[in-house]
Amino acid sequence: MKKKVKLKYCAASNCYYKIKNILNELKQEGIEFEETKCGCLGYCGFAPVAFINNNKLIPINKKILKDIYNNPDLVNNIQSLDFNKNGKILMKYNDELDPDDLDSYIKVGGLKGFEKSLNINEDNLIKEIELSGLRGRGGAAFPTYKKIQAVKNSVSDIKYLVANLEEGEVGSFNNHILSESNPFSIIEGILIASYIIKAKKAFIFVNHKGKLAIQRLTNAINLIRNKGIFRYINEEFDIEIRRSPSSYIAGEESAMLEVIEGKKALPRNKPPYPVNIGLFKKPTLINNVETLAALPYIVYYGGKEYSSIGINNSKGTKMISLTGFINNPCVNEVTFGVKISEIVEKIGFGTKGEIKGLLIGGPSGGIVSKDYIDTLYDYDEVYKLGAMVGSGALYVIPFNQNIVELVRYLMKFFADESCGQCIPCRVGTVKLTNILDDLLNNSKDLPQNLNEINDFIMKVSLCGLGQAAPIPLVTAMKYFPDEFKTKTKLNT
Ligand code: SF4
Repeated sequence: MKKKVKLKYCAASNCYYKIKNILNELKQEGIEFEETKCGCLGYCGFAPVAFINNNKLIPINKKILKDIYNNPDLVNNIQSLDFNKNGKILMKYNDELDPDDLDSYIKVGGLKGFEKSLNINEDNLIKEIELSGLRGRGGAAFPTYKKIQAVKNSVSDIKYLVANLEEGEVGSFNNHILSESNPFSIIEGILIASYIIKAKKAFIFVNHKGKLAIQRLTNAINLIRNKGIFRYINEEFDIEIRRSPSSYIAGEESAMLEVIEGKKALPRNKPPYPVNIGLFKKPTLINNVETLAALPYIVYYGGKEYSSIGINNSKGTKMISLTGFINNPCVNEVTFGVKISEIVEKIGFGTKGEIKGLLIGGPSGGIVSKDYIDTLYDYDEVYKLGAMVGSGALYVIPFNQNIVELVRYLMKFFADESCGQCIPCRVGTVKLTNILDDLLNNSKDLPQNLNEINDFIMKVSLCGLGQAAPIPLVTAMKYFPDEFKTKTKLNT
């Protein structure tokens, strides 16, 4: 009998569905492989990719697989892509991990962080997290230990944890890829944090479009629950997945709580903050899934070890969504302190041609000139540019991109996604969209009081959407002033 070729394929959504289709088609032709799955390998731009005979990592298609099936030696002539584990924490074992198999997670050290945490006093666990320097990965970059400490110290018989996996902004998908690749690390992080704050229950709030993430997380919860591990938190502890209605604003932390309570996605006034009055009016710890997934490493190896990775006030690693005018648009994990140009070159495999700049931090991030591409990927350094690390989105802007059109696209996105609850945001984002339309039509210059309008929206809006909406405009005007002049003015 012919020995089957081993095929270990990336099972994150960018590859998974394509590979499944190819394999189904080949099966109908009588061609089968010894199949296993693994997590995202950072080659979304080459998708689908797979390891052949646990050795070569290559982009595949139906023809290549057919040829390799007929002549396995063929693979020797194909150059392998490199899955580099260096500097990775969350994606480090993605080549070894089957996202549906808990044993594969345990084999690479999974659940050891939670096991260790059970023998450490809660305050000492918080100290380790403080020592690690971990900051919230969802965008606000707030020190993680402070939130955990605040909920732990809140006096209440009931406390909740909510893991945020809404990720509804354009150009961000690293949270979903993390969940599809290593859902167990998120669950383990939830268990550690729930143990510290003595949570009655935890929720994962997932964008309803993330079908594969929901499937993988549900399976991971079931497998870990069946091991009897949840009872270490309390006898009734459970983790429930709640689907988000998939509006950008539903990812705002207080709007998310409203949705879980069965109401409309409307941000709440703050204070009070969720750490004191959160879900069902109880103290609630809200963390992004990437933040939670870092906890097992921090607890197992210690906060000091984690803080030795990264730079300045940006410790550890960050998962990024790299898109735009590059050869390998992908999700990957970088160590803080790397130059943005290195990310573009080494992870993105370089640009497709001349570029104009970068949009750093997603739709509410900053639009920055390419002259700053050597800036270090560091919360503070990026902030100095007027942008933000945010949730990790990094968009490379091609040279022929009209910057005003890009800003207008983002502003329209905010105007569409505004919940309409407060006037500065509801009216302001529409007004800014109209101003940009006028400029694009060459019918009107920018108004004299544009800075005041931007300031007003940023200072008076109730939540982060309105507060950050003008940032792309403000930064784009700073770095690309000529693009904001009408043609008449440019010619004078
Ligand atoms: Fe709603 Fe915008 Fe006000 Fe936020 S800032 S509450 S999205 S109207």
